[in-house]
Amino acid sequence: MFDKSTWIRLPRNVVVGHDVRSEVVDVVDDLHLQGRPLFVTSPTPREVAADPIAADFEAAGIDPAIVTIEKATFDAVERVIEVAEAEAVSYLVGIGGGKAIDIAKLASHHLEMGFLSVPTAASHDGIVSNRGSVPDGDSRHSVAAEPPLAVVADTGILAEAPWDLTTAGCADIISNYTAVMDWRLAQRLKDVEYSEYAAALSEMTAEILVDNADLIRPGLEESAWVVTKALMSSGVAMSIAGSSRPASGAEHLFSHQLDRVAPGAALHGHQVGVGSIMTAYLHGGDRGIWRDIRDALASIDAPTTAAELGLDDDTVIEALTTCHEIRDRYTILGNGMNERAARDVATKTGVIG
Ligand SMILES: [Zn+2]
Repeated sequence: MFDKSTWIRLPRNVVVGHDVRSEVVDVVDDLHLQGRPLFVTSPTPREVAADPIAADFEAAGIDPAIVTIEKATFDAVERVIEVAEAEAVSYLVGIGGGKAIDIAKLASHHLEMGFLSVPTAASHDGIVSNRGSVPDGDSRHSVAAEPPLAVVADTGILAEAPWDLTTAGCADIISNYTAVMDWRLAQRLKDVEYSEYAAALSEMTAEILVDNADLIRPGLEESAWVVTKALMSSGVAMSIAGSSRPASGAEHLFSHQLDRVAPGAALHGHQVGVGSIMTAYLHGGDRGIWRDIRDALASIDAPTTAAELGLDDDTVIEALTTCHEIRDRYTILGNGMNERAARDVATKTGVIG
């Protein structure tokens, strides 16, 4: 008997373009959201986006509560929850880079409220996806939350974000290649749930981004457009899959482990990019696509070596040899690499040396 069933949860409105910041209030109206919103933001995004959006809301007769968070921590999530309860809000709006949006996502999940995502940097695919995670002491607090009700991505604001954040978003997308390889491997070896639609969409997203790499240049608003659309379709792939598998494989495990052993050293997307070079080598050996991944990263000015990440060689080796332990996700790393093998792949791909 055929008895499969699945839920695919997607944002209802995705608005991308120049000056769309002023349309957040229309999006809220279109979604029939009633009551008071809580804006979750951080200091710089507050100035460039949250305050002007708050003025639009006030002009429309809605009085938003605002909470500004400095760091992405579990305490910040709890603070947002407290403010939401104290101010009797009925939905959340995350306005900022990854931090503010992840926190709004986790808090709204706990509060069982909807949230909107208004990214001010195209730095990773969390701006659209249903996955949220923040550091919680020595581990990460990560949930399968809901995707945002809507995403409003103003390319004018995104283009003003520090360039590093944009190249990090690109590298996060380029890493889809190895995430999908890991997913297929896990499907063959461990029979994990797999969606060909989600895998194909994720790979195609990386391909389109790489094909458009010459449009990705500092100061070009079109760059923000290309990257944001790619982050959206990566997020949709995750929604179709019902997991982060289409965009998160061993290269993400490597990055999460770097976050533990060298916190704050480099941006998420940059770390997964370098991880992706090495795991592509593990999948395909010297004739695999690791050079294509490295060249694509280099062409958009994303790091391709430990030194460019600001890390020493030993830190990279430590993360590579231990990252299989952090989560029950089968990847090309299997039950772990030994140190010699790790040094070998890192050296052959030029990541250390
Ligand atoms: Zn990522």
